[in-house]
Amino acid sequence: MAYKQFDRVPNHYSGPVIQRIKDFRQDEGKRSLQPTVLTVGALEVLVPRHFGFCFGVERAIHMAFSALERHPDRQISLLSEIIHNPLVNDDLEQRGIRFIHDSDGERRIEESEISSEDVVLIPAFGTTLEIEQSLQRSGIDTTTEEFRRDFDTTCPFVSKVWDRGEELGREGYTIIIHGKFRHEETQATHSHTKEHGRTLVVLNRAEAQQVADFIAGRMSPELFRGLFSGKWSEGFDPETDLQRVAVVNQTTMLAEETTEVAAVLRDALLERYGADDLGHHFADTNDTLCYATNWNQNATKALLDAEPDLAVIVGGYNSSNTAHLVEICEQVMPSFLISAADELHSADCIRHFDIHRRQYIETRDWLPQNLPVRIALTSGASCPDVLMNDVLGRIAGFYGYGPEEVALGLDRLALHEPAVAV
Ligand code: SF4
Repeated sequence: MAYKQFDRVPNHYSGPVIQRIKDFRQDEGKRSLQPTVLTVGALEVLVPRHFGFCFGVERAIHMAFSALERHPDRQISLLSEIIHNPLVNDDLEQRGIRFIHDSDGERRIEESEISSEDVVLIPAFGTTLEIEQSLQRSGIDTTTEEFRRDFDTTCPFVSKVWDRGEELGREGYTIIIHGKFRHEETQATHSHTKEHGRTLVVLNRAEAQQVADFIAGRMSPELFRGLFSGKWSEGFDPETDLQRVAVVNQTTMLAEETTEVAAVLRDALLERYGADDLGHHFADTNDTLCYATNWNQNATKALLDAEPDLAVIVGGYNSSNTAHLVEICEQVMPSFLISAADELHSADCIRHFDIHRRQYIETRDWLPQNLPVRIALTSGASCPDVLMNDVLGRIAGFYGYGPEEVALGLDRLALHEPAVAV
């Protein structure tokens, strides 16, 4: 999806084949989730209705390139990777942008090496108040209108989560953040919400169930402290701070799982306090879920109905939203996360990233040899289309199809029609 107002996103991030597929769907409502089918000879490539750059990512890239254009004489730094994609980050680095922290949060550039003359950009997933204070010490005023408008690329949907967390924290709710504790966005949300109320981070439904067991009186405070110590804000006391809760999420988590986390906690509060008092103990926060994450995840689920032989997911290995697309696909088919086409070594060998073991692996015989074959192809919210474009071309090449056959396929793009039950 290309947001017209973000005209500084470089053209070299788009890909001609992927653009044609997007154009094919451009007049359609966003709610339709039927995948697009690109037929190249006897190869079918299924592309989900929604994939790739989301609004927040395009906006962040647009702002970074605008800053480069408008401030050619100033040192420009990013607090950390602007988004979780190596192509984009390498591109920015080559244009002179420095990264103050690496992707593990380790500081690379000291406070003293940043001056008030510099431009510093906050990435799309935001940052913590502590890091903003550090910038202030370096002479960067993050409170000015200019800074917020031109240099703070925090996605408005992330800010919305913070605003809602602040509001509910002030009302006395403890904010349960469904997210990965070390992820920059969760750290940022934790930092912003703990200013206004107590917070606790839960990773998944299983952890939410542990919190629920404590709320319902099935777990001792000692055991609870052992499980969650360090994942809460200062002063948090499970015995007093889990009586009123509201759930917000790291926007790239599985939206479905966030809904489950909220439901598990709601049920526990219902059990403990009864239906009459539930509104006082549990706040509905469904409205903070990111629509783009929802779209991409739901469109990926719609791919599964077409029963592809395998899925290739393109994106950064540290991209949370991309990993969730892999989780959706791997429920029903072999699924390979790659960052670029050069990891498709041959029709016989693929180098890919195992999101569970967090390591690269090589798999043999990954591609069915005999046609017809149906492949699901998608990409994460931080992945430029050009990477998916190259992957598509390479896969077609493994079956002996070149640009001419792909072009023929583009002339007869179709929607995948679900099988009619008999
Ligand atoms: S996934 Fe949603 S919240 Fe995150 S950057 Fe994209 S649009 Fe914003």
